[in-house]
Amino acid sequence: AERWEAVPLAPPDSIFKLTAAYKADTHPNKVNLGVGAYRDDDSKPWVLPVVKKATEILLNDPTVDHEYLPITGLPEYTAAAARLVFGKDSSVIKDERVASVQTISGTGANHLGALFLSKFYGWNEKRIYVSDPTWVNHHAIFPQVGIPVSTYPYYDPQTIGLAFPAFLETLKTAPARSVFLLHACAHNPTGVDPTREQWGQIADAMLEKGHFAFFDSAYQGFASGDLENDAWAVREFARRSVPLLVCQSFAKNAGLYGERVGALHIVAPSKEGAARIKSQLSVLARAEISNPPAHGARLVSLILNSDELFEDWKRDIKTMAGRIIAMRKELHRLLTEELKTPGNWDHIVNQIGMFSFTGIGPAQSQALVEKAHIYLTSNGRISMAGLNSHNIRYFATQLDKAVR
Ligand code: PMP
Repeated sequence: AERWEAVPLAPPDSIFKLTAAYKADTHPNKVNLGVGAYRDDDSKPWVLPVVKKATEILLNDPTVDHEYLPITGLPEYTAAAARLVFGKDSSVIKDERVASVQTISGTGANHLGALFLSKFYGWNEKRIYVSDPTWVNHHAIFPQVGIPVSTYPYYDPQTIGLAFPAFLETLKTAPARSVFLLHACAHNPTGVDPTREQWGQIADAMLEKGHFAFFDSAYQGFASGDLENDAWAVREFARRSVPLLVCQSFAKNAGLYGERVGALHIVAPSKEGAARIKSQLSVLARAEISNPPAHGARLVSLILNSDELFEDWKRDIKTMAGRIIAMRKELHRLLTEELKTPGNWDHIVNQIGMFSFTGIGPAQSQALVEKAHIYLTSNGRISMAGLNSHNIRYFATQLDKAVR
């Protein structure tokens, strides 16, 4: 018998499948709203001007070589990345209580965080609670290291908003010391975030039960255009001493998707505790990747550690977030004022980040794909970055048709 006969064929990744179908479509008005990456007004990938500038600096730096980085990554990168998320004046930074390790973008941070917890967390019951719905990969990453996934109520289809009372109830009834995955900002896939007041109540409930916050931060700055604003929840939880870790990605906010620049930051109660945690993260990273990739980390390190490049970056972040927010406003205006589309569309402008849950069902989503050549996932999620001044009217018109 053939050696691998028992290996079953896995289904293709659903987003990948959608992109392939979009590419194969020859219709002139086709629109791709599945893609989770920023596009400019001409539907093209955008290399941030600050990244071009930093690349130029690296190219002309005679000291740059291709040696290995340390196992835990480029130190000036991980340190600056930690300051970016927690704030340079945060007590966790000042007291050196953060164990930071460079990772293979946000996915690698989630994985390494999961692996570390699976080995070292003082579980009552080994399990992670993730929002319903969440980034689909969360459902794969945790079981991969033997952590079963449960969901907590998050999205309420009735209001196209947060199912806050049910969410709080789960926090209150879960076993003490449970681990809850929280999206730091710009929740994927819904675009629905808790308000600051609600974050406060979430922190209260977590402190009361001794829960652990597993923050996934994939969109700092990209969401609102303001790095400080998008880090608010993480900083508030750190300030209030909720036990936590943060998975950080520079894929979206620096447009470095393929460079795989990320970091895992675990906050400890003491400097000495952070050193022990970091020593174990180093052991885990050694077995998994030995050393992280250098190029992207060097770019981000240049940007974070130079006042001039940092200002450039903030401008580029505002360009991306600003275009997305403008698309939200225009889509809302087209639906409510011009087309008088039935229903309430305020969620389009109230949601934040790359994605919007339109509230349309699988049948309507499928109709958009098949009849209008508009590609979106069956849950009705659209990537706002796929909309632009050339296709937004077509999309609004087709959406209007689909819901009438
Ligand atoms: N977490 C969330 C919530 C995301 O949306 C993403 C990107 N889709 C990631 C993590 C990780 O992305 P990457 O590995 O490219 O940084």
